[in-house]
Order: sequence, then structure tokens, then C-alpha cells
Amino acid sequence: MSRVYNFGPGPACLPLPVLEQARAEFLDWNNLGMSLLEVGHRTKPFMDLVSEIENDFRELLNIPSNYHVLFLPGGAQIQFSMIPMNLLGKNNSDPNKAVAEYLITGQWSLRAAKAAEKYCKPQIVASNEATDFTEVPPVSTWKRNKSSSYFHYTSNETVDGISVAIPDIKDVPLVADMCSDILSKPIDVSQFGLIYACTQKNIGPSGMTVVIVRDDLVGNAMASTPHIFNYKLQAENHSLLNTPPSFTWYMTGLVLKWLKKEGGLSVIEKRNKQKANKLYMAIDASEFYSSKVNPNDRSMMNVTFNLPTEELEKEFVAKASEAGLANLKGHKLIGGIRASLYNALPEEAVDSLIKFMGEFEERGKDLS
Ligand code: PMP
Repeated sequence: MSRVYNFGPGPACLPLPVLEQARAEFLDWNNLGMSLLEVGHRTKPFMDLVSEIENDFRELLNIPSNYHVLFLPGGAQIQFSMIPMNLLGKNNSDPNKAVAEYLITGQWSLRAAKAAEKYCKPQIVASNEATDFTEVPPVSTWKRNKSSSYFHYTSNETVDGISVAIPDIKDVPLVADMCSDILSKPIDVSQFGLIYACTQKNIGPSGMTVVIVRDDLVGNAMASTPHIFNYKLQAENHSLLNTPPSFTWYMTGLVLKWLKKEGGLSVIEKRNKQKANKLYMAIDASEFYSSKVNPNDRSMMNVTFNLPTEELEKEFVAKASEAGLANLKGHKLIGGIRASLYNALPEEAVDSLIKFMGEFEERGKDLS
């Protein structure tokens, strides 16, 4: 067996011990004589697993007791609609009158704001689209709206490689898309009204989205909200209104145990900083590689950079892949290179990438 270093943006690399454990107990989980995949979601062993996962999640992120933690089936983009449905309020279902604020810092926040147009008038607080999503718009340029029901932002722009500091918003619930940086560092959950994150990056495999929501924001969904999209009903039913993606639950449980064993999120943050700093230093030290992102806004999770020409970028990705450094191609919307450095990516992977970059630069200089 030869495993590569997987720099993919998601579904992303998983910790090797987690994959090994899943393999070891694949045919017989929990001494039940059957695979987890065959276990009913109403059985006691599965319900016990559900509680354990919620407890571990709460412990790792130090989530206060006045927050629900929901594990909802499907991807994060479902939340682009569920958030307005649940947070605009029962009496605010006229899309021409309801208002919610959206801070645009990259491709994902842009899409979230677009999706909200079906339910409200998104107030674009500020946008960096004109400068190709290379820096977070300065707070001094933000235009707030007093009628807003919530303030939405994306803490890490996966496509563009931008990290957004927590906005200082206290007058309305702060809503964060944390798909690509949740569990990468400790956060103060009490600053947020709602946090959501798809599982396929730092949490586990694809198939689920975790929603952490303050309990006063639950129970006020628009009348037209389908029951399955109602946070209150999901909270009352332990997120089990649907038959759940049980394997994703299970793998998530193993990843959370791995994180705890590694020492929790402070330890993980140190490692993540170390990995990202090394890579940015290598980019900055070279005239061959360049990062377009404002240095203060650089993502620790998704490092985006360019080579002198598109041809060289194509060759870089192909040759890196041959060398066991997989999935370095940038998102199709912006091109270039993207190295995703999620929790499960070991530091040796970054060392190997930096070494490869040095070697490629030597060869590439002759070609550019
Ligand atoms: N927001 C962000 C920041 C993302 O990175 C992604 C997925 N890459 C999404 C939303 C959408 O997630 P999904 O594909 O699970 O709908």
C-alpha cells in the first residue's frame, strides 16, 4: 500500500489512525456481529454513539449549554437557505422587506448571499469582489443595516485562501460559515448566534453539516419552512428526523476521539500555524511562487499561490502528483495552486511540498 499526501480541499485527508480503526471494525462494530453500516439508527448502540459524538464535539469546542449542536444530513449549501428560513423570523416572510447582512470576502460568502435573495434582501455590508477576493474589506468601509435579522460571514474562504477575523457584531446574531476552519483552532462560541460547517474537511467524510445554534434563535422558523429544515424540530429529534448518514456520523466520532487524543484544539492550532507559516515563508522567499492574498488575511487552511505562467502551474500539479503530492490544483474559478492543510495533513506533507517546490523552481526557471 502506498498512500499519497492529499492536499485536496474536501473531501479531504483523514487521520490514518481513524481510517485504520474503521477498517479494523468494518465487519463487526461494537461486537454486534454486523457492520456499523447495517445498524439501525434507533438502536441503543447507535443512539449512544450519537450522544457521545455530541458530547465530544461540545467538549472540544467548549460549547456553552445554551447552544444546540445539530448534525444535519447533506452539505453546507443547504444552510444557505435554512439560515434565512429559521432566522429571519416568523413575521418576516416577505422577501422584499426582510433584511439580513452579508459580508462578501470570497466565492463562498458570495454564494451564500445569492441564495438568501429568495428569502430576503441581503444587505452587502462590504465586498472585495472588485479586487478579486484578495483581501478582507476594511471594517471602516462596512455599511450596516439596522433592520437586519442577522450578520453572515465566512470565516475561511476555501476557494480564495482568505481567513476572516471574527467580526465584532453584538447587535444582531452573528452567523458564521466555518466549513473549512472549524476544529482547526479554539473559538469562543458565545460570540456567535449560529455556526455551521460541512463535515468533509476537518470533521470527517462528506454527507453531513454540523450546526451550532443558540437556543433563543430556534423555534421562530417561517411558516413555509419544511419540517425537515426546521432547527427546532431537528433539535427535538436529536437530528434524526431523516434516516441519518450513519457512516459519516461514525467516522466523525472517530475523528473527534483522535482530536482529543492529540491534545485538543490548542495543540492542533499550533501545528496548523506551523504548517501554514512554513509554506507561506517558502512562497515569500521565492520570486517564482507568489501569493495574491493580503498577508494579514491569509488562510491557515487553504494556501493559494501562483507560478509565472498557467502552463507551469499545470506542469507543477502533474509533476507534484507523480511525486505523491496529490490534489494541488486551484479551484477552477480562480486557477493557480491550492494546498489545503487541514488538521489531518501531517507536517511532513508540507515539508515534502516545500522540497518539491524548490526542485521544481530550479527546473521551472529555465522554462519560464
Ligand atoms: N462554504 C464553504 C466555505 C465551503 O468551503 C464549502 C464547500 N467547499 C461550502 C460552503 C459548501 O459545502 P457543500 O459542498 O457541503 O454544500
